[in-house]
Amino acid sequence: MVDCYSAPNLLPFEQALSNILNQVPSVTETEEVSISEALNRVLANVTKSPLNVPPHNNSAMDGYAFAKESFTDQNSANTLTLIGRSMAGEPFQGECLAGQCVRIMTGAKLPKGCDTVEMQENCEVVNNQADGLSHITFLEPKEQGDNVRYAGEDIKENQVVFEQGRKLSAIDVGVLASLGVPTVAVYRKLTVALISTGDELKLPGESLTEGDIFESNSFTLAAMLEKLNINVLKLGVIKDDKQAITDAFIKADKEADAIFSSGGVSVGEADYTKEVLDELGDISFWKIAMKPGKPFAFGKLPNSVFFGLPGNPVSATVTAHMLAVPALTKMQNCINAAPVKLRVKTATNIRKSPGRMDFQRGILSTNEQSEMLVSSTGNQGSGVLTSLAKANCYIVLPAEQGNISANELVTVQLFDSVIQH
Ligand code: AMP
Ligand code: MG
Repeated sequence: MVDCYSAPNLLPFEQALSNILNQVPSVTETEEVSISEALNRVLANVTKSPLNVPPHNNSAMDGYAFAKESFTDQNSANTLTLIGRSMAGEPFQGECLAGQCVRIMTGAKLPKGCDTVEMQENCEVVNNQADGLSHITFLEPKEQGDNVRYAGEDIKENQVVFEQGRKLSAIDVGVLASLGVPTVAVYRKLTVALISTGDELKLPGESLTEGDIFESNSFTLAAMLEKLNINVLKLGVIKDDKQAITDAFIKADKEADAIFSSGGVSVGEADYTKEVLDELGDISFWKIAMKPGKPFAFGKLPNSVFFGLPGNPVSATVTAHMLAVPALTKMQNCINAAPVKLRVKTATNIRKSPGRMDFQRGILSTNEQSEMLVSSTGNQGSGVLTSLAKANCYIVLPAEQGNISANELVTVQLFDSVIQH
């Protein structure tokens, strides 16, 4: 039987990705930064808590603290003698005995002898008693421990709070502050150099002459790298001139951890780019069984790793997203969160020819019954950058898959923050 799915000379996507991941080095240099500067940085050490959070048992309410044992009547009101107050940052110093209670504010330390708090709304203050003291009547029964926040209930002393390799989120920065940690060790930032090749490319702001187009890849890629908290070195549009290409690659290799070039990796077109790269390092030119993005180059230069992305804007973006971003994540030492994938019905027919793995652009939404559906963004041409702008997910179709009809199940991969908000 003829294997109609075979794709001669094409490198399967998974193999391309694992080849790349096996070859990229991870940064080793670290630096100490203030937690205010730590957003999106990658932790170089395990973070263990130096203390319990919260550090002491405290009240979750404004009210009165007491020992539950002091309630002699378990079914109706109880009255206790008020002996003092515990404020946040100004704890009650004495001990609360049976029959006594202490006024307490939210976050204030639970006085010695107390194990329960009642909120003030469920209490009545009885003043002017013969003994001259205030008494508090508790109107409702209580369970021991009510309205108490226990020491260490959020984080225990010495507990591992964050693993090495965690990329710090906004919340993580707050958690570090709650531990009293002013600075953290993080891995140094990566630098990626961007080179666009193509004599037809003009920068926005320049004027187009016949046959020209505006260069967009370096803008998309720079923005994606910014989302990854990576420094970008933009080397601009390099003309198809051997010396210019050589100079650009040598400069990029000196100054960056990785180089992204776009364009000029298709068969028969890689002229100077391929010649120069072959002279400078060890680069493989692949045809990957993925769509968009068949032509792709990857390898090592003396000081950096090289990603030769296809020129078409969708191909450049999707190959950067699916192949280069995982590599950069590894280079950053960042623990990789697996992308979210879902099996959902397609609302539209999907055209697909067997042979390559497709990353079609889809819009995931819910219908009136709150069921998820995906629909194609339409024209899937590799130059149609708006297909990515309209989408919120990839419809990931395996290489051997053929056409799909509406209502069949497909796998979608949600866009992550690298290419969306
Ligand atoms: P290439 O891979 O160089 O054959 O380019 C494939 C297509 O992508 C051509 O239509 C190019 O004009 C276009 N292209 C290449 N580089 C860029 C770029 N930096 N920005 C936008 N389009 C590009
Ligand atoms: Mg070109």
